[in-house]
Amino acid sequence: LFSTDWQFFAAAGTSESLPPMRGIEIAFAGRSNVGKSSLINALTGRKALARTSRTPGRTQELIFFSGGQDLTIVDMPGYGYAAAAKAKIAAWTKMIHNYLIGRRNLARVYVLIDARHGLKDTDDPTLDALGSAAVSHQIVLTKCDAVKKSELAGRIAEVEAALAKRPAAFPGVLVTSSEDGSGIPELRAAIARLLME
Ligand code: GDP
Repeated sequence: LFSTDWQFFAAAGTSESLPPMRGIEIAFAGRSNVGKSSLINALTGRKALARTSRTPGRTQELIFFSGGQDLTIVDMPGYGYAAAAKAKIAAWTKMIHNYLIGRRNLARVYVLIDARHGLKDTDDPTLDALGSAAVSHQIVLTKCDAVKKSELAGRIAEVEAALAKRPAAFPGVLVTSSEDGSGIPELRAAIARLLME
């Protein structure tokens, strides 16, 4: 599944410009700088498929990567960037909401959380939107290599406690690092299971 040749196939800045649905879609969301590009690159084994360290908040589009007929990975715009204009935030919130409620082949959204920082208020709109659209979603902790094991356990417990208050969230937190590759096989396996459902 993940040894296929991944390719960029579309970018959409409005809900009218979404590409046709291809296979099962798995989307990745998270605050700017959470490590989303790095995770997509690690997952697909392509060093520069998703561009890393682009200007925070600049890319406001959904980016679609195709791994053949069966699986499409969607890189959602990073959020929580303080300097983004309110009007822009409103437009993109609407676009994402339309995408979440209308995309029938969307199997799961992985919401990335920086293990060093945990859940923040800026994650709430995304979790709210996922909940109200009833889209299956799960938390992925990123950059776990950068926190001590003792801290990590506390962070996981914290996130799980917050999620317990949200009925639509898929139980379990995936613990990853794109830096040392930990958790990447588990994430791949979770996605492979979604494709078999
Ligand atoms: P994005 O804005 O969410 O796409 O984040 P990027 O993938 O561009 O990563 C943002 C910054 O975090 C970069 O400086 C990366 O080198 C760093 N980073 C990403 N993944 C990891 C990780 O697993 N461990 C550590 N320590 N740093 C990471």
